Amino acid sequence: MRLTTDTPIHELLRDGNVTAYYTSRGNYATTEEARYNGFNVCHYTGDSYEHTDICLKQLSLATGVSPEKIIFPHQVHSNDVSVITSVPWHKESLESTDAIVTNVRGIIIGVNTADCVPVAFSDSRAGIIGIAHAGWRGAANGITENTLTAMLDLGASPESIKVAMGPSICMSCFEVGTEVADRFDNTCVDRTSWDKPHVSIHRHITKSLINQGIPESNIAGFDNSLCTRCHPDTFFSARKLGVNSGRVFTFISMQ
Ligand SMILES: [Zn+2]
Repeated sequence: MRLTTDTPIHELLRDGNVTAYYTSRGNYATTEEARYNGFNVCHYTGDSYEHTDICLKQLSLATGVSPEKIIFPHQVHSNDVSVITSVPWHKESLESTDAIVTNVRGIIIGVNTADCVPVAFSDSRAGIIGIAHAGWRGAANGITENTLTAMLDLGASPESIKVAMGPSICMSCFEVGTEVADRFDNTCVDRTSWDKPHVSIHRHITKSLINQGIPESNIAGFDNSLCTRCHPDTFFSARKLGVNSGRVFTFISMQ
């Protein structure tokens, strides 16, 4: 995929003929009034269709993929995965799911996040890709495990799957209550450095994928410079801007 405009799209993962990207806002104020300012294709968190349609068309122009082939679910913090093996697909199948797996070339699959972790999966040898939205609920309930299982069911091999995590909240910023911290393995929780516990969702995801057979060297470490809460002028952050705000779009495509 060759990007042809100045749309704020950045490469996250490259694996043969597969590429994953994430979007940034641009550089905008972090006030409540500005909570939708910047690049946002997510139409179900309060932004106007007028604005999200403009951004979707901009994304289509930049990627050369038509808007109807840019596919993302209506996310609900579930652990459900939609598998797309042909287009056109049943749009209803994308209601209330939080991950997509596909073996279809030339389409974009993506998730919208603002602090939650977008996880891109690629097995370019098998021709199978996946994308998941993992907040703490989805992560604790196995959304990334289910995404990987759906890929394996389609014929992917754990040893050839590459994984990268897009813009999301870093452990320093992710303060939680004990009821949330208790859902995670102690190795992913820091209960002593701050007044309240902090959780590393990235570490939790990495550990669970390794447990399912993905080599550690195939999982890119999370880059703290992509923390949404540390950089809400660059990335939408629900903790900073509110749940009703724009979203980072992280997407993957296979040619
Ligand atoms: Zn941070």
